[in-house]
Amino acid sequence: MATPTVVLVPVWGAGHLMSLLESGKRLLARSVRALSLTVLVMRAPTEQLAAEVAAHIRREEDSGLDVRFTHLPAVAPPTDWVGIEEFISRIAQMHAPHVRAAISGLAPPVAGVVLDFFCSSLLDVCRDLAVPGYVYFTSNAAMVAFMLRLPALHEEVPVEFEEMEGAIDVPGLPPVPPSCVPTPVTDKKNPNYTWFTYHGRRFAEADAIIINTAAELEPSALAAIADGRCTRGVRALTVYPIGPVISFPPPPEQPHECVRWLDGQAPASVVLLCFGSGGFFAAAQAREIADGLERSGHCFLWVLRGPPAPGARHPTDANLDEMLPEGFLERTKDRGLVWPTWAPQTEILAHAAVGGFVTHGGWNSALESLWHGVPMVPWPLYAEQHTNAFTFVAAMGVAVAMKVDRKRDNFVEAAELERAVKELMGGGEEGRKAREKASEMKAVCRNAVEEGGSSYAALQRLSEELYKGAVAVTNK
Ligand code: UDP
Repeated sequence: MATPTVVLVPVWGAGHLMSLLESGKRLLARSVRALSLTVLVMRAPTEQLAAEVAAHIRREEDSGLDVRFTHLPAVAPPTDWVGIEEFISRIAQMHAPHVRAAISGLAPPVAGVVLDFFCSSLLDVCRDLAVPGYVYFTSNAAMVAFMLRLPALHEEVPVEFEEMEGAIDVPGLPPVPPSCVPTPVTDKKNPNYTWFTYHGRRFAEADAIIINTAAELEPSALAAIADGRCTRGVRALTVYPIGPVISFPPPPEQPHECVRWLDGQAPASVVLLCFGSGGFFAAAQAREIADGLERSGHCFLWVLRGPPAPGARHPTDANLDEMLPEGFLERTKDRGLVWPTWAPQTEILAHAAVGGFVTHGGWNSALESLWHGVPMVPWPLYAEQHTNAFTFVAAMGVAVAMKVDRKRDNFVEAAELERAVKELMGGGEEGRKAREKASEMKAVCRNAVEEGGSSYAALQRLSEELYKGAVAVTNK
């Protein structure tokens, strides 16, 4: 048999494309059998995303690994979309004929197809072609549990979640307050809600769900998914926790200015504030943060982005003169740095001076934080971050909670930020416990991906399963 290939179907966006590619590469590296990767690339809907995708592909093509990229024919993107999650899900669905043609045309035996979770509709293509179909989930097991539970919740909860009484029962999680549901499901009239419920239903049909988490990070959620409790016992599911999958950029030739600044700070003395690829603040909130940081008395490195330009989606570089209170930079110059553009977050978190992280709670950021044993204060803004924030505090114990006013555009008062930062960086019992747990998770994360670790073993099991799939297809 020729070397079987594993087909990856990513969606664009660094957090998705990089995560799936990195997982695919790890799969090849851990597999006892020879496998190759075939990546089906959908055309990105914006020039910026297309440039990012092209850069990633160039890097992979130069890596010398057995990875081939197939560019799918373009589809006309929908123009009548309401929510971004709906948009991505619909584009993925529109690619079905092209994905089918690309897989049918492959010469080597297909071991299986690994779909980004937004592409769950393409499980139909896998069924039609009789090849195993897997879902790759870039976020955590808690979110998978929530999404698997959504189709039933849809029947049980006739009102909006924020109007319901009591907490939401999600097997494997502590009772979830309705205020912590993921943003895409906060409005049931929004197509995002319909799509998330759809994906949750489809996940249960996959041959397995591959999750960027580690068995030891989320044992209860993983158990509830695997034994079928999240799907009302309809079906036990196969789960492969293979993380943390983190894509570390190559070391820079020169240390970044933020890193040089950290070199001058005492160990574990700096709180980092950084809010993902999409987080930004208006001036009123930025001034509130500045007040909170100043009053906290702690050292800080604050990555601050401004609102997107009209019609655009991405944050802009912050205009510090307009956004910060007068004299703030001067008054805090000995203990603070405000960085107004993209910063090398993984390098910063690796620095010994960083002792805490105020984060929007994107899962990649959280994994990077735990990889370095840094405790968090979650400040959720969009996507599944409100659920993540709840999970980090209530289920994983690696974060200090902060009051975020979801009804006021996730506003946080200066005094509340001051309190949370003080607690995180050395206050009372809550901060101490979060620091201890985060430090424990550092060892857990590193052990999981080492040879003999749980995620290493999960990748080996997955590669065996894929290989068996290729043998079955070949013998048909
Ligand atoms: N990131 C970074 N510098 C920044 C902001 C973000 O390097 O100034 C990286 C961060 O390290 C992480 C990713 O961007 O790898 C953000 O992914 P995450 O899942 O946390 O959030 P998202 O951007 O998808 O909301």
